[in-house]
Amino acid sequence: MHEFRFVHNKLYCESVSVKELALRYGTPLYIYSKKTLLDHYHKIEDAFKSIKPLICYSMKANSNLEICRILVKEGAGLDIVSGGELYKALKTGLSGSKIVYAGVGKTEDEIKFGIKNNIFLFNVESLPELMVIDRVASAFKKRQSVAIRINPDIKPKTHRYIVTGRHENKFGVDFDTAREIFLNRSRYQNLDISGIHMHIGSQIVDARPFVRAINRMIQFVEMLGSKGIHIKWFDIGGGLGIIYSNEKPQTAKEYASAILPLLKRLKAKVILEPGRFIVGNSGILVTRVLYIKNTERKNFAIIDAGMNDLIRPSLYDAYHEILPVESVPYTTKEGISTYDVVGPICESGDFMGRDRKFIGLKEGSFLAIMGAGAYGFSMASNYNLRPRPAEVLVYGKAHRLIRRREGFSDLLRCEKGL
Ligand code: PLP
Repeated sequence: MHEFRFVHNKLYCESVSVKELALRYGTPLYIYSKKTLLDHYHKIEDAFKSIKPLICYSMKANSNLEICRILVKEGAGLDIVSGGELYKALKTGLSGSKIVYAGVGKTEDEIKFGIKNNIFLFNVESLPELMVIDRVASAFKKRQSVAIRINPDIKPKTHRYIVTGRHENKFGVDFDTAREIFLNRSRYQNLDISGIHMHIGSQIVDARPFVRAINRMIQFVEMLGSKGIHIKWFDIGGGLGIIYSNEKPQTAKEYASAILPLLKRLKAKVILEPGRFIVGNSGILVTRVLYIKNTERKNFAIIDAGMNDLIRPSLYDAYHEILPVESVPYTTKEGISTYDVVGPICESGDFMGRDRKFIGLKEGSFLAIMGAGAYGFSMASNYNLRPRPAEVLVYGKAHRLIRRREGFSDLLRCEKGL
């Protein structure tokens, strides 16, 4: 599944010792395996090769320039949700023709930025947004392709914060609104309203909600077809789940075999927007134990990574496996202690794992927080004025800094009160 393994009780990323990287680059440190990244991209590509979809990596999962560039060089497009992501997407060398742009709150300036750069498709999330895109396209004397994001009202089993395709969620429009838009598409003279889009949520481990949602979308497309309106693009979003603990997510192949028969009923070209599936298991966050604090009720391993570096446990109660970078041979149960692994931030919600068992854990030990490649660094902040960690890419025996550690001066970069 990934290229992080133990060799003689020492954790390696591909052929590089994780401890060496921690000593060389400091902690907290994000480490990515290029091979794992590419393997996961190719798993999707292979699973769908019979329909040759446009795979737009969802850069919100991890927007490091080098990570995006590796995928772009491999043939991926990018799924973006902001002007900042567009700016960075263009810096990878990707042309606008492989960029799809979703998001409920695109500003007029962001829309201008997109149209100016000839982005392929806006995934439109409301009627007022559609009108703004039409107006801006007219000012640029361009005809802009758009897809309508439809909210298929499907509830997958995942954390409620990452469900996006229920009627109560803010995303997309309902089928009736979408129908009105398509039937009246001639009103929008500067738009080619030629696609539909859905994205029902994230970390979905079962193909069934995708099948249900796609079936609803297909019924809609068939209804349009009966009125002489034909769809060129069907963007099915992202959302594939990965293994964090004992989940058994569908593989890319299982996902494809569940939905390909449906997709093949349509003439439309398919777009996929995977994020987590591609990058999630390609990254870890390495941290050092600063203090061991034993209290009557609990033992705490206080580490140098906090919720500002990886917010998923605090925000979603997400489980991440935490492994010692050098493990003590596990021959006896003696010396095993249970710890809450907590960060230095002044919030009780600042934890990486609760009730985790370690043997011989001590101050100075390095721990690896697994599966941290997606929504890890990209959600990091400077809360408590903590500079954000460095990121390193490993490829075979080699490694390279792909983002330097922030320093204190970075914390003042935008301040005016100096
Ligand atoms: N597409 C859209 C529109 C999204 O909002 C997201 C994530 O929220 C994704 C794709 C990527 O989702 P995932 O990382 O679960 O594949």
